[in-house]
Amino acid sequence: MTPENLPKFLPHHIGGQEVPSRSGATFDIADPVSNQPYATAAAGQAEDIDLAVRAARDAFVGGPWPTMTARARARVLNNIGDAVEAQGERLAALETFDTGLPITQALGQAKRAAENFRFFADLIVAMNEDAYRVPGAQLNYVVRKPVGVAGLITPWNTPFMLESWKLAPALASGCTIVLKPAEFTPLSASLWGPIFAAAGLPAGVFNLVNGIGEEAGQALVEHPGVPRISFTGETTTGQTIMRTAAENLKGLSMELGGKSPVVIFADADLDAALDSSLFGVFSLNGERCTAGSRILVERSVYDDFVNRYAERASKIVVGPPSDKATEVGALVHPEHYAKVLSYVEIGKTEARLVAGGSRPAHLPEGNYLEPTVFADVPSTARIFQEEIFGPVVAITPFDTEEEAISLANDVKYGLAGYVWTENLGRAHRVSSSIDAGMVWVNSHNIRDLRTPFGGVKASGVGHEGGHRSIDFYTNEQIVHVAT
Ligand code: NAD
Repeated sequence: MTPENLPKFLPHHIGGQEVPSRSGATFDIADPVSNQPYATAAAGQAEDIDLAVRAARDAFVGGPWPTMTARARARVLNNIGDAVEAQGERLAALETFDTGLPITQALGQAKRAAENFRFFADLIVAMNEDAYRVPGAQLNYVVRKPVGVAGLITPWNTPFMLESWKLAPALASGCTIVLKPAEFTPLSASLWGPIFAAAGLPAGVFNLVNGIGEEAGQALVEHPGVPRISFTGETTTGQTIMRTAAENLKGLSMELGGKSPVVIFADADLDAALDSSLFGVFSLNGERCTAGSRILVERSVYDDFVNRYAERASKIVVGPPSDKATEVGALVHPEHYAKVLSYVEIGKTEARLVAGGSRPAHLPEGNYLEPTVFADVPSTARIFQEEIFGPVVAITPFDTEEEAISLANDVKYGLAGYVWTENLGRAHRVSSSIDAGMVWVNSHNIRDLRTPFGGVKASGVGHEGGHRSIDFYTNEQIVHVAT
C-alpha cells in the first residue's frame, strides 16, 4: 500500500534549507514490493558534503547549540522525542513502504527512536565532570567539550531508529551533524528536518546529504572538517572507511555485521528458547544485525528441536509489508534479495533444508522469501560463517559445553550471543566465554539504553550506549591548577 502524500523528490537538508544537489544529480528509489521507482533523491557529491559541513561548522562555531546548558539542550531533545512519537503512524507507513518491514514491527520504531532522545536528554542533565585534588598542590578538573561536526553514516535496516541512535547522543553532546542515510531507504530520514525545526533545534545544527555510499559517504569520511565518523553497516564498508579516515586521524565508531550464535542446552526452557530463537532471526525480515542466525542445540534435544523449529518456521506468514497479518515482509532491494537467494542455493549444497528455501508461491512479485531453515550445518559451511542478513537460519548440534563454546566462537564476527540454560553456573560460564560484545541469557534482544552496545572481532570497534556515546562525541580536556 502506498502511503499518502509520498514525496516525489528527496532533497538534502543543509543549513535549514531543503536543497537539490549542486550538480542536479539524482538517483531513483524503489519500494521492495513493486521494485519500481517511486521517487528520486538528490545524489550528493563532494561539493554538497562540503556545503553541509560548512553549515554544520558555522552552527557549531556561531552557536548557540554547543554552549547551551545541558538542561536547555535536553528540553529540545525531549521536544524531539515527543514529535517523533507523535509521528508514529506516519513513520511506520513510510518505513514499511520503503524497507519492506512488516507494519506491526515498524509501528514500534518511532517509540524506540523517541526513547533514544529522551534517554540522552536525561543523561546529559545528570552527567558530572571529574575533579582530582592534590591537597596543597593542585586542583585537576576535566572539561568535556563537543568535538564539532559529527558525520553519521547509517544502514537501510530500521533506518530511522538507527539514525536516532546516533543523532540523539551527538546532539545531546552539543555537536552539529551531517547525516548520510542509506541510499536504499532514504524516505523516513526526510522526517527529521521538519521535526527538528519544530522542536527548536537551531538551523544548521542538523544537516542531511542523501547519496550513494561511495560518493556522498566517502566524501563525508574524507572531509577534514569532520573529526568523528559514526558508522553502522557492513564490515567491509567499515574497513574501507577506516582506511579513508586514517588520512585525517578521525575518531571512529564502527557498528558492523554479525553472525550471532544462540546456544541452547538440553536443560533450557525449550518452549521459550524456540519462541525466542524464531523471533531472533525472522523478525525484521532477518535484516537485523543482532539476529541469532546460528542456532547451536545440545544433541539430546536436537532432533525434536529441529522438527519443532521447522514446523513453526513454515507457519510464519510471509506477505505484503503493509498487511497487519504479515510476519515476514519483502527484503529491502533486488540486489540484496539476490544475495540472500544465492546463500539459500549455497545452503542447499552444504546442509539439510528443513523449511522454506523458495519464493512463496502466492507472491510471484516482490522480494519475498519463505523463512528458510537449514539443519546439520557444519561449521565450515558458508551459511554458518557468512552474514546473510535475511530470513535464513543455520542449526547445528553439539555434544559438550566446550564444543558449544568453540562453535559459537568459530566465526569472524562477535556482535551478540544468546544462551539458554536453567543451570546458573553454566549460564555465567558460557556467556563470558562467548566472544561477543553482548550476550543475552534466557531472553532475546531487549536493550537497556544505559548499557554498552557494540561488537568485537569483525563486528565493530568501540561502543555506543549510555555515557559511551557521549564519550565518543566529546573530547575530555584536563585543566591542572596550582593551588
Ligand atoms: P553498507 O555498509 O552497505 O552501507 C551502510 C552505509 O554506508 C550506507 O549509508 C552506505 O551508503 C554507506 N557507504 C557505503 N560505502 C561507503 C564508503 N565507501 N564510504 C562511506 N560510506 C559508505 O551496509 P548496509 O547494507 O546498508 O547495512 C547492512 C549491514 O549493516 C549489515 O552488515 C548489518 O549487520 C550491519 N548493521 C550493523 C549494526 C550494528 O549495530 N552492529 C546495526 C545495523 C546494521
